[in-house]
Amino acid sequence: MATVSQNIYLTKKEKLKCSKCHSPILAGEAFVGETEQSRGTCFSCSDFVGYPLLPPGNAALTRRSKKHSALCGVLLTWNQRRKRFARKGQYVEAAAIEKAKIECAADQKIRDEKNAKAAIVREKQDKIYIENFAIAIREIYPSCPVKREYAIAQHACEKHSGRVGRTANAKIFDKQMIDLAVEAHIRHMETNYDAQFGKGKRKKEIRSDVKFDIKRVMMQWRQLPTLDLFE
Ligand SMILES: [Zn+2]
Repeated sequence: MATVSQNIYLTKKEKLKCSKCHSPILAGEAFVGETEQSRGTCFSCSDFVGYPLLPPGNAALTRRSKKHSALCGVLLTWNQRRKRFARKGQYVEAAAIEKAKIECAADQKIRDEKNAKAAIVREKQDKIYIENFAIAIREIYPSCPVKREYAIAQHACEKHSGRVGRTANAKIFDKQMIDLAVEAHIRHMETNYDAQFGKGKRKKEIRSDVKFDIKRVMMQWRQLPTLDLFE
């Protein structure tokens, strides 16, 4: 039997009313409804009274306890910074959580091994990504100091980790992306940018101060290396 899923909002609205008992639901209180715009009830009037809340963080336990419960109330809280609702756990039957815990304990080892394998694959992909990114940097900045392209690529990879869907395909490195990575590297490594903070200057001012230095170094790195024929 498929689980019936239901949203429960720790609402950000000020003036919601329970459609059953008509009592007001204040901001921060639970509103059980498909959206905050739809008709819904307070928690006391909902089917989830007496259900335990399973906190988030264990994907297998979350998935399995939902599967074993007739009803699943997904608790959502507003994240102002991200401007969207985030999961804060789920209300499922206590027996469903117990059943799921037993299942999880039974195959914990297999899942750990799977995760470890996946981590190794990810690490390999990261390596290929960095390698290809470094090659792409070297192509555009042939006079970049030796091995520096790897430092730049490594940093860019860490910065974007988890935020963009990365593939190891070198085609995805567009010129702007490379320029930005090189520019950031030069700002920190080849100018006095970092040393200027904490001396009463504003970030905008400091940035504009080093702008020329950055452009100069970028131009140097872009030139083809000169051959020392008489060496
Ligand atoms: Zn009510």
